[in-house]
Amino acid sequence: MKKKKSGKSRRRRAPRRALSKRRAPSGHSGRDQLLAPITGADRRTVAGVTVDTLRAANGRVKRLVYPPGFRWSTHMKPLVGTSLCMHGHVGFLARGHIRGQYGDGCSFEHAAPSVVVIEPGHDAWVVGGEAAVLIQFDAEGATARQFGLPDAHRHA
Ligand SMILES: [Zn+2]
Repeated sequence: MKKKKSGKSRRRRAPRRALSKRRAPSGHSGRDQLLAPITGADRRTVAGVTVDTLRAANGRVKRLVYPPGFRWSTHMKPLVGTSLCMHGHVGFLARGHIRGQYGDGCSFEHAAPSVVVIEPGHDAWVVGGEAAVLIQFDAEGATARQFGLPDAHRHA
């Protein structure tokens, strides 16, 4: 009883500023929720891209943070060995601005907030000085098939 009471009063006496700080939306609190560590995630950095992966249902959810200046053909291509990125991407661009191009010259551009569907067979890069944060739904090797994308960008 005594213990409970003192805990309560301590909380009540907490300075107002600290309280409002805790309630402030991300970006004002110093803790950016969009970039904060995710409990249970497998975190890796590949070619400057920070990738957090979590299993979800029969697939995965990934958070990819592409730094300013990142370009798939410059930074990732040497590690992957294909001439274009052959992954399909389905997700939500929560921050930043990206552009890309398919092998046939068709191009795409997304600025957050934006739903992103990118077919296999593309290059892509970050535009501007802000990291791009993509929340991606992923079925590993079967992503394109699972979401009904072609195995490579083409016109019917
Ligand atoms: Zn095309």
